Amino acid sequence: ATPTSIMVGTGKAAESGILFKGGEHLERTHQLNAIVLDKTGTITKGKPEVTDFTGDIETLKLLASAEKGSEHPLAEAIVAYTTEQDITLADVEDFDAIPGYGIRALINSENVLVGNRKLMSQNGIDTNIFDEDLSKLETEGKTAMLVAVGGVFKGIVAVADTIKENAPEAIKMLQDEGLEVIMLTGDNERTAQAIAKQVGIHNVISEVLPEEKADKIKAIQKTGKKVAMVGDGVNDAPALAIADIGIAIGTGTEVAIEAADVTILGGELLLIPKAIKISHATIKNIK
Ligand code: ADP
Ligand code: MG
Repeated sequence: ATPTSIMVGTGKAAESGILFKGGEHLERTHQLNAIVLDKTGTITKGKPEVTDFTGDIETLKLLASAEKGSEHPLAEAIVAYTTEQDITLADVEDFDAIPGYGIRALINSENVLVGNRKLMSQNGIDTNIFDEDLSKLETEGKTAMLVAVGGVFKGIVAVADTIKENAPEAIKMLQDEGLEVIMLTGDNERTAQAIAKQVGIHNVISEVLPEEKADKIKAIQKTGKKVAMVGDGVNDAPALAIADIGIAIGTGTEVAIEAADVTILGGELLLIPKAIKISHATIKNIK
């Protein structure tokens, strides 16, 4: 392997917006045979919007007030939805984010919970009778969340994120390069499958807690595969670090970029198969 050809390869990549941290990462990219992609913000645009809400105005007000304290894209969607409707938000006395589950806020001395089924059952709130409603929304690729106030169910809010236009093409190109393509998400199984279907991914790992993402990468490595992880969020950083190649994409948080070996500028998914092609072309020329 001549250092010059590696430099030419990384230079060519950089011109397209693919930044390899070092030449050894280009060589390792050439050896990949599996690639794991985070869903929100990587496969999807990461700009979700509220599509459905069941509940009264007071519930909507409490829901959005509670979400104001969260930095999650789901929370931003809910807050934006109420801003459009001129709803004045209430003061929040206390707030907790529960990663992978949802949020809890104290408003007017009442506990407001927003999140998934697991969050509700953890708090002793039975939501089984709403399961059919939730499943219907999820089959449409939406993320459905339950709202409870003072321990009582008050409504469902659903949020949808659209896939990036080039996602199906980029995924097809990765599969054509012989890579096994896997989607990894904290979202529920039905929503994950619906999005996976839209982009042509057959392999889905869903309902993964943020702290479990790295373990899922390790498990794939144990099967003998060389794995790349693509992600954008703070949650993805440990998985990016443990992967054989960590790829930070898009507006990528500082933490994600630091943990990654490769940064893709601008969130363009087509640059991922391009990076792989460049690695093959460079290494083959060397041999
Ligand atoms: P992803 O992998 O898609 O980024 P997360 O691990 O961040 O997913 O979240 C997993 C699930 O936890 C969400 O699908 C949602 O049900 C729930 N959740 C997370 N954050 C919030 C929030 N701010 N409000 C309501 N629910 C949330
Ligand atoms: Mg995410």
